[in-house]
Amino acid sequence: MPLTREAVELLVQAARAWYFDGHQHGLRDREWMALRFLGRANRFSRTPSALAGFIGATRATASQIVKTLESKSFLVRKPSHEDKRSVVLHVTTLGEKCLNQYDPINHVVNAVTALGTDECVKLRDSLREILNHLDAAHQRLDASICRDCMFLAERSTGPATGRARSTAEFFCRLYRSPISLDETELLCTSFERTRDRPTIVKHLDRAER
Ligand code: SF4
Repeated sequence: MPLTREAVELLVQAARAWYFDGHQHGLRDREWMALRFLGRANRFSRTPSALAGFIGATRATASQIVKTLESKSFLVRKPSHEDKRSVVLHVTTLGEKCLNQYDPINHVVNAVTALGTDECVKLRDSLREILNHLDAAHQRLDASICRDCMFLAERSTGPATGRARSTAEFFCRLYRSPISLDETELLCTSFERTRDRPTIVKHLDRAER
């Protein structure tokens, strides 16, 4: 079997871990997907419409999933700070606990962690590169982090010391809002890829260590 086909088939087998029939710990696979996304999404993407786009569902289906998660106290709605007519979905402490303990992808996360940091970074970069190709071919990308987004700009140009690292601030030119260093690691459905972001990548890579 050609190497590339073998690699793709292994990737598909690994992905099957998060698709299943019925329920696991009280949630269907799409409900897990929604809870997982909302647990990692930034404040601009924790909305019913962004959720619908991410899970590939209609607004009505996404709304039903939100109701299910609310009924289990895994999620609450709060008015948006940016737009009072909109709501932002927040994963509760109970929802976070459920994700930490029972998320069906946790055993995949553990297996990837066991590879060690260097292999994990290689795997992440390879998968990101594959998604870039798919994105270019199909003109879509569900969500990604600020690191490679064309809308991210640096606000501070201080020296690259440990102190600068902890206080580094960024700005989203799309939403015209400040973005903290921690927020740059969260998922965003408005992401637009750029490949030319060397200074910011340097900051963010230091933050990972
Ligand atoms: S910089 Fe890009 S990824 Fe980050 S919040 Fe703005 S649009 Fe989203």
